[in-house]
Amino acid sequence: MSPTCPRRTASPSVAGRALPPVGVFALQGDVREHVAVLRALGADVREVRTPAQLAEVAGLVIPGGESSVMDKLSRIFGLRDPLRHRIAEGMPVYGTCAGLIMLADRLHDGIAGQATFGGLDVAVRRNAFGNQLDSFETDLDVAVLGEQPVHAVFIRAPVVDEVGPKVEVLAALDDGRIVAVEQGRLMGTSFHPEVAGESRFHRRFLDHVTAAS
Ligand code: GLN
Repeated sequence: MSPTCPRRTASPSVAGRALPPVGVFALQGDVREHVAVLRALGADVREVRTPAQLAEVAGLVIPGGESSVMDKLSRIFGLRDPLRHRIAEGMPVYGTCAGLIMLADRLHDGIAGQATFGGLDVAVRRNAFGNQLDSFETDLDVAVLGEQPVHAVFIRAPVVDEVGPKVEVLAALDDGRIVAVEQGRLMGTSFHPEVAGESRFHRRFLDHVTAAS
């Protein structure tokens, strides 16, 4: 993707406002897809790999990928502690799949020694659908996003096993398993809207950034 040609189509939520730059955690994962969705919504998007780059953004999307690798790379690049600090300060963050895992305060079925950034008072189970149902797609009702269902793509996805009292459940599967949550300005989904042409979660994230700045 050319960094020189941001598409600045106005969206109702960001049109006419000077939205501060937002970042996509870019040490690992499907960074490009999130950058494209955010740019299409009119956001000034930066890839974040260093503490200096993190300091420039007012909100962060953590993509899908492999959470154990994100954990290791964030330590190597010195991003883990500054990012934990920003989350604690209230920076809006949206995590998809591995990104949701990274936002969870508690992790089930992590690899030995795996840690998260934390922030969301939830327990998340990695690879919760096992090998049989490794990846699948379904339509989900997400009331906060309106009547149109969300087409959700799950790829070796986690589920939310437990939620704390301040966590709002945004979506669950028919069997009750929780797959989208929000707590203040932190939001996480087990699935990948960014690969399904779905931009309403990203728009909601940008609304959180606007509200926080
Ligand atoms: N299974 C991956 C993990 O543990 C997440 C998969 C994804 O992000 N699509 O991090």
